[in-house]
Amino acid sequence: MIPKRQMKGLIPYKPGKPIEEVKKELGLKEVVKLASNENPYGSSEFVKEAIQKELSQLHIYPDGYAASLRTAVAERLQVDENQLVFGNGSDEVVQMLCRTYLEKGTNTVMATPTFPQYRHNAVIEDAEVREIPLVDGKHQLDKMVAAIDENTRIVWVCSPNNPTGEHVPEKELLSFMQQVPDHVLIVVDEAYKEYVTAKDFPNTLTSLSDNQNLVVLRTFSKAYGIAALRVGYGVANPEVVAAIEPSREPFNTSRVAQAAAIAALNDQNFIEMCRIENEKGRNQYYDFSSQYGLTVYPSQGNFVLIDFGVPADEVFDYLLRKGYIVRSGSALGFPTSLRITVGSEEQNKDIIACLSHFMDQRKDQS
Ligand SMILES: *Cc1c(COP(=O)(O)O)cnc(C)c1O
Repeated sequence: MIPKRQMKGLIPYKPGKPIEEVKKELGLKEVVKLASNENPYGSSEFVKEAIQKELSQLHIYPDGYAASLRTAVAERLQVDENQLVFGNGSDEVVQMLCRTYLEKGTNTVMATPTFPQYRHNAVIEDAEVREIPLVDGKHQLDKMVAAIDENTRIVWVCSPNNPTGEHVPEKELLSFMQQVPDHVLIVVDEAYKEYVTAKDFPNTLTSLSDNQNLVVLRTFSKAYGIAALRVGYGVANPEVVAAIEPSREPFNTSRVAQAAAIAALNDQNFIEMCRIENEKGRNQYYDFSSQYGLTVYPSQGNFVLIDFGVPADEVFDYLLRKGYIVRSGSALGFPTSLRITVGSEEQNKDIIACLSHFMDQRKDQS
């Protein structure tokens, strides 16, 4: 048994600690997980109804082309139906892009730290990965352009960036897209788009007509709150979609997932509520950070990355023992920070109370 050479050293994705495990380990009755940027408000009520209706059809394969969902998303985004490719989560679209465009002898350019799946899938395809460090949590787009050569196939821009939450302003993105040569696919991952409140955030879809090489990624896992069902998609020009489609598994999005996604899309009031509450929640963390003089990046997502100036695992363990699972920055390239998913007002208040206690304790010790 001989795996591909590049599989060596790759590790399977490590999710945040599961709730049940933490309950058992620490003897806690209640554990709150704010580690994977899941929606604290769940999903639209419409979703349950839609799923119920599919239950009599579980023996029938789904429509691999996701025709109904396709029509719904195309209408919502005002794009053509042949500009969409659906995945089992946008994770799978990342995988399809890598399968389609990357191989030995090619390279791909991305920021670091950023969403790890770009790198992971590129390595599996044996492409060279060129990582350009963030500065102050932001993409260094000029340096990324400079890293591109004739063998570059994909450049990734994660905006808002996971894990920093920083976004690329419209002017910068437009100028970047002008500089990237035509033979390079520009992938802009907008997994947190629905949470964005910044006025200078681009309407990236409008750039598709001027940039044949652009792909925009979106997902139903975050604000739409159906992470368990795995639906994400890419928006691109028809030629790019046609190139990717053969790499898609025949029935990659399930019948239940497609129905749920349509229902979720039809409840924009829910999304609006989530955006508003999430912005208030981010502000709770900003207030806490400024009170204690901690650095936090301005986030356009549903998470905040706070630098505690001490080994992240210390703060992580402290919160864990209080029943809060967050994400330690030690595995994300920020060894003294925590990435905390913005929860409900009450959850944020409780976490902040714990964190304040942690900070006060440290002050007393020093
Ligand atoms: C969560 C996330 C995704 C993946 O979402 P799925 O659609 O659930 O696969 C993609 N990109 C970024 C930046 C994310 O944070």
